[in-house]
Amino acid sequence: MAEIEREAMEYDVVIVGAGPAGLSAAIRLKQLDADLNVVVLEKGSEVGAHILSGAVLDPCGLDALIPDWKEKGAPLTVPVKEDNFYMLGEAGQIRIPNFPMPPLMNNHGNYIVSMGNVCRWMAEQAEELGVEIFPGMACSELVYGDNGEVKGVVAGVFGLEQDGSYGPNTEPGMELHGKYVFLSEGVRGSLAKEVIAKYDLQAGKEPQKFGVGMKEIWEVDPAKHKEGTVTHTMGWPLGSNAGGGSFIYHLDNNQVYVGFVVHLNYKNPHLFPYMEFQRFKHHPVVADLLKGGKRVAYGARAITEGGYQSMPKMVAPGVALLGCSVGMVNVPRIKGNHNAMLSGKAAAEAAHDAIKAERSGDELSDYEVEVRTGPIGSDLKKVRNVKPIWSKWGLTASLMLGGLDMWTNTFGFSLFGTVSHGKNDADSTGKAADYQPIDYPKPDGVLSFDRLTNVSFAATNHEESQPCHLRLADPNIPVNVNLPQFDEPAQRYCPAGVYEVVEKDGKPDFVVNFQNCVHCKTCDIKDPSQNITWVTPQGGDGPNYPNM
Ligand SMILES: Cc1cc2nc3c(=O)[nH]c(=O)nc-3n(C[C@H](O)[C@H](O)[C@H](O)COP(=O)(O)OP(=O)(O)OC[C@H]3O[C@@H](n4cnc5c(N)ncnc54)[C@H](O)[C@@H]3O)c2cc1C
Repeated sequence: MAEIEREAMEYDVVIVGAGPAGLSAAIRLKQLDADLNVVVLEKGSEVGAHILSGAVLDPCGLDALIPDWKEKGAPLTVPVKEDNFYMLGEAGQIRIPNFPMPPLMNNHGNYIVSMGNVCRWMAEQAEELGVEIFPGMACSELVYGDNGEVKGVVAGVFGLEQDGSYGPNTEPGMELHGKYVFLSEGVRGSLAKEVIAKYDLQAGKEPQKFGVGMKEIWEVDPAKHKEGTVTHTMGWPLGSNAGGGSFIYHLDNNQVYVGFVVHLNYKNPHLFPYMEFQRFKHHPVVADLLKGGKRVAYGARAITEGGYQSMPKMVAPGVALLGCSVGMVNVPRIKGNHNAMLSGKAAAEAAHDAIKAERSGDELSDYEVEVRTGPIGSDLKKVRNVKPIWSKWGLTASLMLGGLDMWTNTFGFSLFGTVSHGKNDADSTGKAADYQPIDYPKPDGVLSFDRLTNVSFAATNHEESQPCHLRLADPNIPVNVNLPQFDEPAQRYCPAGVYEVVEKDGKPDFVVNFQNCVHCKTCDIKDPSQNITWVTPQGGDGPNYPNM
């Protein structure tokens, strides 16, 4: 193939992804030196379009970055007023009182926010400081320098032929070069995955662990809406089939975020995370709230769960990984946005110092030290054993021993040391013959919905003429290996109904409806044969989340 000619633009720092991590880095760089040239590239059609997390935000990251965020009109307007935690059985629930919970679990001082709106506001702050932000620009390739360092990215390739090749109508995009490149692509970033593999950054660390999170926004009956209320549940319907739980956050305007997370290390390949979520809404605690209301949006996204012991080395020559591209979610708190912001700030400070010292293209080791030993490390270290204890010994042990461990860690020690995660999520999947199929009730169309109907509420869009961005290393594996051994779990683990096994000419055929993809990356993580690679489709494609 002939060499593709592209224009190149030079920056001080190139940032991939306009989530809380990338935007924080951009803001901090310009706060430190207004003359730095900083660009942020975002694959969503606008900033916020791919941000799922309707969230409870710990403002410590924003406090550190923009201390006067209140005066500047940040959309943090709903303080948490009430914090509930329930253990669910099929028809009832036990409320777990707040007093035995370690202090870090307290939501006092936090805010219920639309992270999409927070990111839109952060983008405005960044632009006012002179950051260039280009939404609708997917970064599809890394550019390496002569010494093997990352020196930039290729962004803005449009109109590839269906086989992925460049045709007469292909716009080849451009190269954006930086003294440093920040990958803040969020969970399972496609370029971050390449960098982790190329520089062997996971070596000596625990495997990264993940969950899949699904969320709906509901408008509920005003009489049932309790602005500022946060509820978390565990137990039913997952039981011992998988780890996970739910969150219900009452925002303003009678809106409620209803979400469900399933840990992706589940063994039973018959498990159907999406249907677990739908079934969950029929529990009386949830059904009573939702009856009479309407679901106005749906989305899904993987979430990192490996925590402290799974963070890869986060710097390599010319490049740094930020936020959930490293995996900075505090799992028991289900919070990662504050750490994403703090990581952006720390990476910016390290890059600023390096550029001032006329360095470029090397490792920003100061950034890594700050993450591991500063506030992010101390936040994650305290909770490092909760997830592996849950995975090894189940929910009750996790509540008792994990709770105890969080308490002792609050005082600086652990009785368990650091518990290991064991296998990665793909390898955790068991054989179909060893597990019972699970019978899921049919959605009623009132509280629960079939997958394709719900996907239409993610407003996702991919041009049909472009190549499939879900690449199968071997197209025969789904039918020849995954179907007989695992009952092809892609049919169930994908929360957007991308994968189907249909009958064609009397034989099973694997169909990939990539148009439905909501960019959650679950397939890239959970496929037991590790045969699916998620690469970025062209910019502007994917979900268009309103204020999720
Ligand atoms: C269901 C769920 C609920 C959660 N609840 C909470 C909560 O209540 N509180 C909390 O604090 N945290 C919560 N989290 C975690 C939180 O969402 C993450 O920690 C946070 O989003 C990480 O920020 P980030 O900037 O690293 O990545 P992201 O927020 O994922 O942002 C990454 C951005 O990069 C863009 N991008 C990716 N790849 C490319 C590319 N190649 N080219 C161009 N652009 C690209 C994406 O489109 C996206 O806009 C939740 C997560 C989930 C899934």
